[in-house]
Amino acid sequence: MQLYKDQTLKVYNSLTSKKEIFKPINEGHIGMYVCGPTVYSNVHLGNCRTFMSFDMIFRYLKHLGYKIRYVRNITDAGHLENDADEGEDKIAKKARLEELEPMEVVQRYTVDFHNILQQFNFLPPSIEPTATGHIIEQIEIIKNILDKGYAYEKNGSVYFDVEKFNQTKEYGKLSGRKLEDMIANTRELNAQSEKKNPQDFALWKKASKKHIMRWPSPWGDGFPGWHLECTAMSTKYLGKSFDIHGGGMDLKFPHHECEIAQAEACNGTSPVKYWLHANMLTLNGKKMAKSTGNNILPGEMFSGENTILSKAFSPAVIRFFMMQAHYTSILDLSNDALLASEKGYHKLTDAIATIENITTAAATSFDILAWKQKCYDAMNDDFNTPILIANLFEGVKYINLIKEGKETITEEDKALLKETLSNFVFDVLGIENNVTSKESSNKLPEVVDLLIQLRNDARGNKDFATSDKIRDELAALGIQLKDGKEGTTFSIS
Ligand code: AMP
Ligand code: ZN
Repeated sequence: MQLYKDQTLKVYNSLTSKKEIFKPINEGHIGMYVCGPTVYSNVHLGNCRTFMSFDMIFRYLKHLGYKIRYVRNITDAGHLENDADEGEDKIAKKARLEELEPMEVVQRYTVDFHNILQQFNFLPPSIEPTATGHIIEQIEIIKNILDKGYAYEKNGSVYFDVEKFNQTKEYGKLSGRKLEDMIANTRELNAQSEKKNPQDFALWKKASKKHIMRWPSPWGDGFPGWHLECTAMSTKYLGKSFDIHGGGMDLKFPHHECEIAQAEACNGTSPVKYWLHANMLTLNGKKMAKSTGNNILPGEMFSGENTILSKAFSPAVIRFFMMQAHYTSILDLSNDALLASEKGYHKLTDAIATIENITTAAATSFDILAWKQKCYDAMNDDFNTPILIANLFEGVKYINLIKEGKETITEEDKALLKETLSNFVFDVLGIENNVTSKESSNKLPEVVDLLIQLRNDARGNKDFATSDKIRDELAALGIQLKDGKEGTTFSIS
């Protein structure tokens, strides 16, 4: 029997601004689409937070026994520098600055993205399609929208006609905006604009002579508008209506609003049942962003090579830190908060590691089933990981009280306690039970220096037995000490 039959999951749906009971379109099956990265630079920790929120959601839905198809795309074309369909393509610009082929840029940062996500223990999505791999599908959708009269062509570009769409449908329903207000608050279009209205957005852009990333189309050589790829790929792999669409809050408008408009214009149906939006990671109280330089890269945190934090933090600790906040709340990154998370992480994983050693008794003195259900209740309440973690620490408290002889547990309940903790910590939160080799190996030079100092002290005291022992034992570990005029140095073989 699947767990989801016993658990009532509620999710906060941005479309209705309400927490709703989650009921997939097809019982037992879920289709989930999450907007992926634009691969023109290294992912910063803010990007990782959004993807991690959906990794946790994916993990919990799997844990509940759903068969889930999770599609997360790679944006490798069409994302312009600003939302007004102006400016250079972000990837083409990077390629120009670095004198690379655009696809070299795409490859480099896709590899970086996968590498970082792997270190954070992400589960891979079921499908990871690319925008450039779906140009044909995007062209077909444009043709369809043109046929239905919701788009117009101008000088080799095609624009979505928002005003026409809004006559029979509702543009702005996700972000709670009204088209009339948007029109009232925007400046007149400049004379060169091809758009009928400033709210119209590009489905296809004519490529200038210099534009490398270009494809043939019925309207001439060009490239797709950014919003279109997600409609094309989600429809192709999940159907015209699917269960969950996710992304960062900053994508609600215009990106997701435009996705809804395109899909409704093309397919005549509302594409998504539940829209889920993850909130931002901030640094110094401001949104972490590539463009402002207010960001930190995961690699800089793992190695400790940064000017923001006092030490290196392992991916598992950073993941634990992220999970301590609800995915819809803003989270500020700080050294103190990370240090506190590190302590909590060790307390939790140490307790799990020592459950085996606790002695069992004839009876259990606390209500373990009620505790377990409290863990589920937290996750069922729109994936409330901070409350879940508070409950997991109650489990830790029980373990410690049993060790002190103040509570008792049966063999059977001990297994249940261990299974519940490891299900939630490792499978659902995705926290790995290991301090990364990087974090500990970073300390190696300091540890060897300490041993060199102790050896010098021993030599100063003419305790040659100890000083030789330190040198020989280190050599046995492949660490050679070399005494020179400047003092002792070491090398690792
Ligand atoms: P991009 O590569 O710019 O398309 O962004 C990839 C994802 O990262 C999107 O879902 C954004 O919403 C998300 N994102 C960008 N900045 C932040 C941030 N500071 N905190 C959380 N998510 C972010
Ligand atoms: Zn998208």
